[in-house]
Amino acid sequence: MTARCNGRCRTCLWRDPRLTELDTETVKWLYAEAGHAGVAQLVVWGGEPLLRQDLPELLLAARRAGLLTTLITNGWFLDARWGELHGLVDALILSLDDIGPAHDALRGLPGLYERMEAFATAVRDDPLRPTLLVNTVLSTLNRGALARVAPVAARWHAGLYFCPMETGFVTAANVDAPLADMALPAEEIRAVARTAVALKAAGFPILASRPYLDLLARDPKLRDYTCRAPRARLTVGADGLARDCSDIDRPLADVRELRAAGEPLSRVFRLPGYRRMLERSRTCTKCNNPDVIELSWLWDFRPAMLRKVAELTSL
Ligand code: SF4
Repeated sequence: MTARCNGRCRTCLWRDPRLTELDTETVKWLYAEAGHAGVAQLVVWGGEPLLRQDLPELLLAARRAGLLTTLITNGWFLDARWGELHGLVDALILSLDDIGPAHDALRGLPGLYERMEAFATAVRDDPLRPTLLVNTVLSTLNRGALARVAPVAARWHAGLYFCPMETGFVTAANVDAPLADMALPAEEIRAVARTAVALKAAGFPILASRPYLDLLARDPKLRDYTCRAPRARLTVGADGLARDCSDIDRPLADVRELRAAGEPLSRVFRLPGYRRMLERSRTCTKCNNPDVIELSWLWDFRPAMLRKVAELTSL
């Protein structure tokens, strides 16, 4: 939704204050088109989405288009803006990479952790409380964070996701990885997988499925899966470019051009570039994030993923 952010995370690949964002009406058109095309869920992220003053209007448009709404935020503006967003968010994902001042230092936002704690406490008994999730990105900057964050997620009554940091952009040739020096080495990722299994067994709300944790322990580079993600999702950047997930340099389409030409969003799904992306995905395992892998398994109706959907609906 935006590439602007008030945070200063060193692990971020997406912050870009120069980017020209889609205007309100084009975003609303995009969501209406997504609903017509049969898309089920909108995931809004950034940058920091709460920097968009039109966010409530956009989420309302998404709801009216029949989309479930998920919002990913660093939490800084939640207290100030929750009144406008109340009832418009089905799932809220709070980015939390450590606890207390350590988290604030990672984000470059002193006082952030206290704001998040206050928000999580304030919404705990709200009947319109969204499903609350915490997402923790693991890198050399926050070694051991999973065990520190897990009790906080439990106290906030939130599910906990974690992922090894993404180190770069997927290009046609490979992964251009400018942040590779901050990635945890394979042995440490194996140890994280073992920690997550132990935390899950002890009742902490780790949402990673057991097959994912087993894969992470066995194959920390996460290469042993068949990707279905591009069949299940379409990513549109804040600049309006529908991305080819396996080639960041060659977007599939520009939604501004589609709208100006009177074409539906579903036109994207008939483009030769889209079909080539699906074809490449049969053998592509460039992504290491659990959402790509578990979404792929959900697409294949693996029983562990169906259990996980049930688990998510009970949060
Ligand atoms: S692993 Fe999947 S989502 Fe990632 S680049 Fe390859 S096809 Fe796209």
